[in-house]
Amino acid sequence: MSSTDPKALFPEAIAARVSSLAIAKSRAIAIVDAAGLGEGEREALEADIREVLEKRDDVTEVRVAMMAERTARKLIAVGSGKGGVGKSTLTANLAIALARRGRKVGLVDADIYGPSQPVILGNQGQKPVAREEKLEPVPSRYGVPVLSMGHLVEPGRAIAWRGPMAGGALTQLVDAHWGDTELLLVDLPPGTGDVQLTMLQKFKPAGAVLVSTPQDLALIDAARAGQLFDQAGVPVIGLVENMAGYACPHCGEVSDPFGKGGVEEAAGRLELPFLGRIPLDLAIREGGDSGTPPAATDDPLAQPFHDIAAKLDAWIGAKS
Ligand code: ADP
Repeated sequence: MSSTDPKALFPEAIAARVSSLAIAKSRAIAIVDAAGLGEGEREALEADIREVLEKRDDVTEVRVAMMAERTARKLIAVGSGKGGVGKSTLTANLAIALARRGRKVGLVDADIYGPSQPVILGNQGQKPVAREEKLEPVPSRYGVPVLSMGHLVEPGRAIAWRGPMAGGALTQLVDAHWGDTELLLVDLPPGTGDVQLTMLQKFKPAGAVLVSTPQDLALIDAARAGQLFDQAGVPVIGLVENMAGYACPHCGEVSDPFGKGGVEEAAGRLELPFLGRIPLDLAIREGGDSGTPPAATDDPLAQPFHDIAAKLDAWIGAKS
């Protein structure tokens, strides 16, 4: 059996879907990636492929295997009560840590009012292309493809969007060509607005991670976001405390500018699992600003992200 390059036989749009083609003893076998296609599109694609192959003199029999999505993709939402608590930083680092554990992870930056993933993952300025009216995720150098409003609109442009516009934007990002991605981490805007509601109604996540600093106010807000997930029947996988404990770069003394342990206490009170604590460290901010998140490095700062990713991984494993 000899394999044939699909690009030599089919127009580009079709060839991109043919993952393998072999012609031997008058029989052609095409394996086709039909992930994300509707029934009509699948039938049309199969007919196009058959037509080309059946015309050939060296082929009397054509077999086409239309492979549907192999994985049931899970969405994990990452939320917070308010902005600036490090939700995007956590989401990016968790996605990278999960990818390093062998998961096929993608990232949706649904924080449409302040998209920061293109900067954190170092792929800003790249534009996702559309194929068959759906977006192709933008690759990042960490093996985590990402779709962000930051790739689509000028910074600050989406700020006035409400209701359907915001929900529509989320739909474009989630309902995209995610291919064999098994896990989508969704970086939500803070609070409980339109994007959250669309998310729960259209793409019910398998679970949610909530992040907060140890400050009381942020805690109360995070609890509110948790309530929304609860009501919608989305389990809160657990709480993460960010910006806990600051190691002074000069004297090494650890202080707690935002208090410490508050999130763990809250988790106990709310009877939710506590997933871990990320220290306040300048290197985390610098890594985010320069497109080199700590989880992608061998820096000791990667460890807390890996520990949380391990818990998340176990939770996902137990769910499947
Ligand atoms: P959010 O998504 O909640 O708005 P971000 O992830 O954008 O928050 O973080 C806000 C700012 O805080 C960013 O500049 C980020 O680099 C920084 N930051 C986040 N977590 C930490 C941390 N643990 N230590 C130091 N800086 C952090």
